[in-house]
Amino acid sequence: MYRLILIFFSGSSLVSFLTCLIYRYRHNIHDRYSVCDHCGRILPWYVKIPVLGYFLSLGRCVRCGYRIPLCYPLAESAGGLLFVLLYLLQT
Ligand SMILES: [Zn+2]
Repeated sequence: MYRLILIFFSGSSLVSFLTCLIYRYRHNIHDRYSVCDHCGRILPWYVKIPVLGYFLSLGRCVRCGYRIPLCYPLAESAGGLLFVLLYLLQT
């Protein structure tokens, strides 16, 4: 069970990283900090945990209350589920 959780977290982390990379490349952002799209303030560490961060922040920016698009946790969840599925098919 712990192995599946670790594999899910690995897949969701990879999707989160790739999403961040694409977003920064498209918007020409070179800062190392993750900021809110709306207010531009730096986000705390726990908001950046894939999938969990969305629920910990109740789907909103913890600084200004701006609603975070649902596509981010959905894409991260899909990546995690894909990794789990690939692992289960392999074993
Ligand atoms: Zn904000």
